[in-house]
Amino acid sequence: MVGNIHSLESFGTVDGPGIRFVVFLQGCPLRCLYCHNPDTWEKGEGSYRMTPEELLEEVMRYKSFIAKGGVTVTGGEPLMQAAFVREFFLLCREQGIHTALDTAGAIWTQAVRDALDVTDLVLLDVKSIDRVQHKELTGAKITNTLSSLDYLEEKQIPTWIRHVIVPGWTDDDHLLQQLVDFLKPYRCIEKVELLPYHTMGTRKYEQMGLQYRLEGIPELSTERLKRAREIFKL
Ligand code: SF4
Repeated sequence: MVGNIHSLESFGTVDGPGIRFVVFLQGCPLRCLYCHNPDTWEKGEGSYRMTPEELLEEVMRYKSFIAKGGVTVTGGEPLMQAAFVREFFLLCREQGIHTALDTAGAIWTQAVRDALDVTDLVLLDVKSIDRVQHKELTGAKITNTLSSLDYLEEKQIPTWIRHVIVPGWTDDDHLLQQLVDFLKPYRCIEKVELLPYHTMGTRKYEQMGLQYRLEGIPELSTERLKRAREIFKL
């Protein structure tokens, strides 16, 4: 089995607890309007093709640095290669390495459930709690994300929710409160991370000759982020 890998980052600090080795897998079925990584979208081979064993070997070079953190697999949408994720995480477990999976929950198959079963922490991106807006923002229905969250609850797999706050879209007190109320019953959720919208990824669109459809939307202000945190009581 071989994974299609977009890139590797040996000292990630923003995708899960501690210092982490971050694996970006190639391919994503969504087209989020604010995506920073449009270069991961296409389903191709990416920059590297590695077996789970080869990838673990690379990770082991950094084992002492990530001892209190672990490994995070992200993308793209890593669950497009769910079987690869599962095999890789099983190898990490054998080595006592903590595993995190950053996913939008866009795919819902048995292979996905098998991968989630061997994941220590899921970072689940909920793009919008409003179904119509979710479709507009990502191009996909929210259904699979909600099925994923229900499964994480059923199996009590530790979960962090991530939510990007975009002015004119998800930056809305009513929608934020709706999300708080929706998430409240889920005991698997350990943390909610509110991420302010920024425009740092727009250069990639220019380079790739793609239209950036949120052109003109300002970055989220500190005041609005503070307000969102108040609504979530963070
Ligand atoms: S799920 Fe992630 S990688 Fe895929 S389009 Fe959305 S932001 Fe980009």
